[in-house]
Amino acid sequence: MPRRHLELSHPQPALTDVPPLGNDAQSLADDFRRYYVHHLGRDRYCRTPHYLYEALTLTLRERLLERMRNTRYAQQESGCRQTYYISLEYLMGRALGNAILNLGFNGEAEGALRRYGLELAELAECEADAGLGNGGLGRLAACFLDSCATLQLPVRGYGIRYHYGMFRQKFRNGEQVEEPDHWLREGNPWEIERPEFAQRVRFGGRSEVKRGPEGRLNARWIDTTDVLAVPYDIPIPGYRNGTVNTLRLWSAAATDEFNLGEFNAGAYPESVAAKNDAEKITMVLYPNDASESGKELRLRQQYFLASASLQDVLQQWIGTVGIDLADFSAKNVFQLNDTHPAVCVPEMMRLLLDDHVLSWDEAWEIVTHTMAYTNHTLLPEALEKWPVRMFERLLPRLLDIIYEINARFLAEVAQRWPGDKERVRRMSIIEEGVEPMVRMAYLSIVGSFSVNGVAALHSRLLTQGLFRDFYEMWPEKFNNKTNGVTPRRWIASSNPTLTKLLRTTLGNDWVADLDQLRQLQPLAEDSAFRKQWLAIKRGNKERLAELVQARCGVRFNPDAMFDVQVKRIHEYKRQLLNVLHVIHLYDRIKRDDAQDLVPRCVLIGGKAAPGYAMAKRIIKLVNNVAQVVNNDPAVGDLLKVVFFPNYGVTAMETICPGTDLSEQISTAGKEASGTGNMKFMMNGAVTIGTMDGANIEIREEVGEENFFLFGLNAEEVVETRRHYDPAAIIAGDENLARVLQLLESGHFNQFEPGIFDPVLAAVTSRHDPWLTLADFSDYVAAQQQANDAFRDREGWARMSILNTAASGKFSTDRTMREYNRDIWKLEPMEALAVK
Ligand SMILES: *Cc1c(COP(=O)(O)O)cnc(C)c1O
Repeated sequence: MPRRHLELSHPQPALTDVPPLGNDAQSLADDFRRYYVHHLGRDRYCRTPHYLYEALTLTLRERLLERMRNTRYAQQESGCRQTYYISLEYLMGRALGNAILNLGFNGEAEGALRRYGLELAELAECEADAGLGNGGLGRLAACFLDSCATLQLPVRGYGIRYHYGMFRQKFRNGEQVEEPDHWLREGNPWEIERPEFAQRVRFGGRSEVKRGPEGRLNARWIDTTDVLAVPYDIPIPGYRNGTVNTLRLWSAAATDEFNLGEFNAGAYPESVAAKNDAEKITMVLYPNDASESGKELRLRQQYFLASASLQDVLQQWIGTVGIDLADFSAKNVFQLNDTHPAVCVPEMMRLLLDDHVLSWDEAWEIVTHTMAYTNHTLLPEALEKWPVRMFERLLPRLLDIIYEINARFLAEVAQRWPGDKERVRRMSIIEEGVEPMVRMAYLSIVGSFSVNGVAALHSRLLTQGLFRDFYEMWPEKFNNKTNGVTPRRWIASSNPTLTKLLRTTLGNDWVADLDQLRQLQPLAEDSAFRKQWLAIKRGNKERLAELVQARCGVRFNPDAMFDVQVKRIHEYKRQLLNVLHVIHLYDRIKRDDAQDLVPRCVLIGGKAAPGYAMAKRIIKLVNNVAQVVNNDPAVGDLLKVVFFPNYGVTAMETICPGTDLSEQISTAGKEASGTGNMKFMMNGAVTIGTMDGANIEIREEVGEENFFLFGLNAEEVVETRRHYDPAAIIAGDENLARVLQLLESGHFNQFEPGIFDPVLAAVTSRHDPWLTLADFSDYVAAQQQANDAFRDREGWARMSILNTAASGKFSTDRTMREYNRDIWKLEPMEALAVK
C-alpha cells in the first residue's frame, strides 16, 4: 500500500511555500538546460530530439504545477462548489503547443530554444498524441476542460489512463490494419503520479444483508477481489489567466495482499500473474464509437473509474469539511459523459449507505442532486445495456442497489399512471427477457437532476423518441447544451497565419471571446481583406498538400477545391454517399461531361471499429476508387482522391485549416451534434450538409446562402422509410444508375471479384436505415452548386470569411457558460497569487 498520511513529518510551510518561477526567456532557457543535462543526463552525444522535447516539457510542467497548486489551494480553501467531469474518454492530442499558448509563453519559449539553435516546431513533433478516446465524445471532453480552465470554473476531469490509446491505423492492400498505440512507451512527462491518493476498488464476491442494531438493514460486500486505482494528474491550463485545473486519470495496480493472499509455496508465478489481471483493467481503450461492446472488461473499466473517482471526492470532502455530508450536494456536481460512467449512480448510493451509514432517503437525496447526465446518441444500438448476470458476478452489491432504485422508481411510475402496466414495463431500468439487462441510460436519467442532449435537434428528438416517457414524467430535467470546440486549439494554435490576421484585425481578445469574430462580417466585402484571406487559405492548403503527399503519396494541387470528410467511419455518417459522388464525378470526366468542373481533391479519413465489417469495407472501397481515379490519365488534375491514414487530433490540426468544403452528410436525425463541422467552420470552410445535429445551428448562424444544404430532414427520413423504394430511385436517376453500374461491373475491383457486393446490397436494400440513395440526387445538385460557387474565387472568399465570422457560437466557452448557468452553478475562482 502506498503511504497515505505522513502524520509525524508533515512538511513545514518553508518547504512548500516557494517563490514563483521565472517566466522570461532566460529562466526558461536555464531550466531547459538543467533538465536536459542534469535531470535527464543527456550530453553532446545524444542523437535524438526526444529528450529535448522532454526537457522543454519538464520546464513548462513545473510552471503549470505551480499554477495548478495555486488553483487547487484557492478552490479548496474557499470551500467553493465544484464539478467533476466523469468520462471514459479524453482525446487530448498533443499538449506542448497548447501549454505554451495558454501560458502565454510563445515568444519566450521560442527565444529560449533559439539560444541553443533549436526549433520549437521540431521538438513538438516528438510528442505522441494522447489518444484516449474514439472521436467526437472524447474530443468534446478535452475541449470542455480547456474552456472550464479558461473560464476559471472549478472543474476537475476524471478518466482512465489507458496504456494503449486509440489504435494506429495502417493499410494493407487498401484494407485497415490496426496497430496498438503504445503512447506511454517513452513516458508521459506531463503527468505526475499521486500514489498518496490511491483508492481501492472492489470486484466480485457477494453481498450479505444483515439486520443491524436499530433494525436497520446493513449490507456487506465481502470476499471481493480488490484492485488499486492510482491517480496521475495532468495540468489543464486556462488561457492566460493563471488558472490550471486538473485532469486526474486512474491507473490500475495490484494491491499488496492481492499477491500475498495467493502466495504459498510453489504458487509464486500464479500470484504474480494475478497482478497482471489487476493491471488489465486500464490496459486498453475500447475502440468502438457509437456502439456498445458488451464485454466484461469494459464494465470493469466503467466501475473502476466511477468508484475511484467518487471515493476520491468523498475522501477530499472528509479531509476538508469533515464527516458531515449535509452540505455535500450543495457543493458537488458530477457530470456523466454519456452512460459510460452511469454506475456512478448506484456506486454513490453504495458508498453513502454502506460506508457512510446514511439512510436510503438521505443517500438518494444526495445522488439525485449531484448527478447530471449528457446523452450523445440517437442510435438505439449505441445505448448501453449490461446483462444482469454480469452485474451479479462482477458487482453484486451494486445490483442490489439497482433493484432497489428500480422498485422505488416503478412504484412512482405506477402511482403517477395507475394501471398503465405497459408504461411500467417500458420504463423499467431492468429490461426483461431471456437475458435480463440493465438499461444504463434509464439508470442515468432516474439518478440525475439534469439530462441534456448536445444540439437543439438532438435534444428535441430525445424528448420525442428515446426518452419520451421520462420527459413526460420529469420535463424539468431535460435541457439542451449545443456542443462546441475550443478556439485555442482549433484556431489559435492550429492556424497561425489566420490567427495573425485576426490579431491585427481584431486585437487579441477574440481568443477568449469568440463572438468578436462577428466583426469580420463587413470585411467580407473588402477586396483587400479577401485577398489576404485567400492567401492564408492557400498557404494552409499547401501545408495540407505536403502532408497528403507524405502520408498518401498523392499530389494535391493547392488551387483545386479541397473537399474533406474526416470522422469515424460509420454508415450513418454516410462516407458511402461521398464515394458515390466521387464515382459520379469520375464518370462525368470519363464521358467527357466535365467542362464546368473545377479541379477537386477529395480527402476522406477516419478509423473503423475493428469489428465493424461494413465500415472496413467502405475504407477498402475508398482506397480502390482512389487507385483507379488517381492513375487514370484521362482524369489528370481534375480529380484526386485519398484515404488519409490514422486520422486523429494532430492530423486534424493540419486538415481543417486547409479545407474548402466540409462534408457533414449524415442521415438527418442520426448525428447528435458533430463537432468536426465546427472546427471546419471556424477555419473558413463552407459546409455541405444535411439538416442534422449542429449543422442546423451552423446554417442558422451563417445564413442559408453560405451553406450547401441538401437531403431529407429528420421528419422526412422517418416518413420515407415507410415506403422506401431504392429501385425506383435508381430507375429515375441516370447518374445514379451509371454509378451503381460502374460499381457492379467490378470497375474498382477488377482482381477482387465481388468484394463490394455487401456495400451494393446495403445501399440498394429497401431496409437501408441510412437512406443513402434517397439523398443522392439532391447531394449531387448541392455539390454542383459548391462547384460553381468555387469557380467565383471572390464569392467563395466572401462565404469563407462569413463562415468564420459566424462561428463564435461554437466555442466551448459558450457551451461551458451554459452548463454552468443551468446545471453546475459554480462561481469562477481566481488562482491564488503567481500570474
Ligand atoms: C473533432 C474530432 C472528431 C469528431 O468529428 P465529427 O465530424 O463530429 O464526428 C473525431 N475525431 C477527431 C480526431 C476530432 O478532432
